Amino acid sequence: DGQIVVSGLTKHYKNVRAVDNLSFTVEPGRVTGFLGPNGAGKTTTLRMLLNLVKPTAGTATIGGQRYADLKDPLRTVGAVLEASSAHKGRTGINHLRVICGAAGFPRQRADEVMATVGLTPAAKRKFKGYSLGMRQRLGIAAALLGDPQVLVLDEPANGLDPEGIRWMRDLLKALAAQGRTVLVSSHLLSEMQLLADDLVIIAAGKLVRQGTVTQVMDSM
Ligand code: ADP
Ligand code: ADP
Repeated sequence: DGQIVVSGLTKHYKNVRAVDNLSFTVEPGRVTGFLGPNGAGKTTTLRMLLNLVKPTAGTATIGGQRYADLKDPLRTVGAVLEASSAHKGRTGINHLRVICGAAGFPRQRADEVMATVGLTPAAKRKFKGYSLGMRQRLGIAAALLGDPQVLVLDEPANGLDPEGIRWMRDLLKALAAQGRTVLVSSHLLSEMQLLADDLVIIAAGKLVRQGTVTQVMDSM
């Protein structure tokens, strides 16, 4: 399955303990919010999960395997790591088709995921004309191309208006209801209350709380 297990995960830079002996689990079928102030270590943790940053110590696994050992990583995990970028003169749909070509996904997946994120009307417009919200949607569409069991989204609601955030809530809840694991970071509790079922809260690289949103709110 797509359970994420983070165990003793640690990343030290020269002067900073970016992530410090962090352990938590993320269950399939739920939206888990990864909450902490700027600089808390969220991005570093997600990058270690995705094998983009090498841990100083500890492990992060997806369905019992490290990312580097996954047989088919692009069909197992979809990630949105920062404000999505694309070739400025390329249309949204062509951006996705290029990824399909590189990853070996069927070309029609590009049209399917454009519809999933509600971008079909803008599919043939150039990326440079996309608003921030449209760019976020396109990034999510790209992450969904491989029909992954696990979705990892770093601050996907940044810059979205309230309507965009409600749209994202509906999409993430629907993806979780299909049994997928959805891990989404934010530095805003208000955003997490709207988006998430479960919460993992960190500060200065360490775990502060983990539980359902209700449990965590009751304990604050
Ligand atoms: P968050 O995503 O919660 O804002 P980050 O994981 O980006 O936090 O950063 C955690 C801490 O680690 C911050 O103090 C940041 O400056 C530091 N950090 C992140 N990446 C590096 C790096 N490559 N070299 C040195 N320090 C880093
Ligand atoms: P975010 O908070 O979204 O992670 P940042 O702007 O903090 O974005 O980081 C962007 C990139 O810079 C990342 O690759 C991160 O590892 C690196 N980085 C962040 N803080 C530092 C730092 N203090 N020293 C060196 N690299 C850093």
